[in-house]
Amino acid sequence: MELRLASGLTYDSIVDGPGLRMVIWAQGCIHNCYKCHNPQTHKLDGGIIVNTDYIINEMKKLKLHKGITLSGGEPFLQAKGLSIIAQEAQTNNLDVWCYTGFLFEELMSESNPNYMDNMKLLKYIDVLVDGKFIYNKKKIGLKFRGSYNQRIIDVKESLQRNEVILKNEYMEKRLELVK
Ligand code: SF4
Repeated sequence: MELRLASGLTYDSIVDGPGLRMVIWAQGCIHNCYKCHNPQTHKLDGGIIVNTDYIINEMKKLKLHKGITLSGGEPFLQAKGLSIIAQEAQTNNLDVWCYTGFLFEELMSESNPNYMDNMKLLKYIDVLVDGKFIYNKKKIGLKFRGSYNQRIIDVKESLQRNEVILKNEYMEKRLELVK
């Protein structure tokens, strides 16, 4: 299946989730966050077309990596294709983080026209960082998030308990920074 990516893969990131990670940058975003750090990823018809098989082959070559991260752009605009990648990552013992400008509740809403594809992808995500980047909620020192409105969500626990469960080990700085 084809995916539209913003650029090539980033193989050795240490800032897009814990440990060493391969990052897949989805092209296309509709959120238009003020002072977005990746405006070149917004155009829905921009970027490059890459086959999922290529990404999976690259992923299988990883040796020391803890996981992969889906970022962008907005990964959930290509949820179906990215679910193939995420599923394969978990099969290969790589954990999956994903950044989205949507809220977890929006993705999970049965009235969302993309509900089925969203669920397909969420099923293979370990950690979701959700919500738009809000410039006046930006704080230096936040770990793995741009602004403190964004939540770092344990997806498997949240799906199981049908409520948002945060990964508190990554959110702990939030309270002291927001005070
Ligand atoms: S969701 Fe991400 S890529 Fe999209 S506008 Fe906001 S910060 Fe930029």
